[in-house]
Amino acid sequence: MGRTDLIPAEGNFYKANLHCHTTYSDGMLTPQQVKELYMERGYSIVAFTDHNRYVYHKELSEERFLPLAGYEVNNDGRKGEGGHPIADHLCALALDPERAQMVERPVVYDSEKINEMIQRLREAGFIVNYNHPAWSLEHTEDFLALHGITCFEVFNYGAEVSTGAGYGDQQYDLWVKSGRRAFPIATDDNHNPPVYETGGGPGPDFDSCGGFTMIKARELTYRAVTDAICAGHLYASNGPLIEGIYLENDRLVIDCGPVCSVMMKDCGINNAWAIYDGADSITHAEIPLSAVRREFGGAVRAVLMRKDGKRAWTNAWDLDEMGF
Ligand SMILES: [Zn+2]
Ligand SMILES: [Zn+2]
Repeated sequence: MGRTDLIPAEGNFYKANLHCHTTYSDGMLTPQQVKELYMERGYSIVAFTDHNRYVYHKELSEERFLPLAGYEVNNDGRKGEGGHPIADHLCALALDPERAQMVERPVVYDSEKINEMIQRLREAGFIVNYNHPAWSLEHTEDFLALHGITCFEVFNYGAEVSTGAGYGDQQYDLWVKSGRRAFPIATDDNHNPPVYETGGGPGPDFDSCGGFTMIKARELTYRAVTDAICAGHLYASNGPLIEGIYLENDRLVIDCGPVCSVMMKDCGINNAWAIYDGADSITHAEIPLSAVRREFGGAVRAVLMRKDGKRAWTNAWDLDEMGF
């Protein structure tokens, strides 16, 4: 069988932060300062997602920088009468920034009302991404009840540095195993506090530039980038880079920056397949599809890890549906 690219071979990878706060809500940097900081660090795309406030910072657009427009919808409450605090935060990203319109949000935490809001957001011209699952403390049955989610935060740097709850691997695993699909993204959710009130911290930008999404698009335009996000032409990372990923001759092939392990996940416990070495010397992996335990479903994805613990996460692909 010939080669099937899982992320298109043509186009360019653009580095993106798809979740960001500014002085328009509770962030400390202005949109212009965010743009300068991220461009210095090699980013081409920032989605401005201030809390419950939708603003298109069109004036920041230039040849090498694309601002995406969106907002974060916070639905906070308690799980039942007297229950523990619980949150459901979603980033709405506009597909057409001039036309998208904010929608009403539920004033209490209620899964059914949240789903109705997601539907309204989609009708109003947004895609909807699920934020920081570990930090939010939703129960499995709560987040698995969500419908209409396009991207899923497998890593949120702000949640990691402020509370140690930045990794959403387990929740993403449960999401995929339940038959749901959403594209994995890693974000910063940066607020850029000079110091945290609880006792100091690194510098003013320390919750920036930790989690990123690499988007493969034909050009750096609003339409091309949002098309690529909607098609899942992306991967999430807080360190390792992926250069190419494709199926060829019943193998999943990955070319990547140096890592110490490549793990193939299916929907079983333990990896379906993995390679490890003691150093960060793996830059190419050929994974036999025969290792996928089809009795658990045909979905496979890869997680790459470096010795410093930094990871990259790929989409989950349905091999049966793709005819592999
Ligand atoms: Zn949030
Ligand atoms: Zn946020």
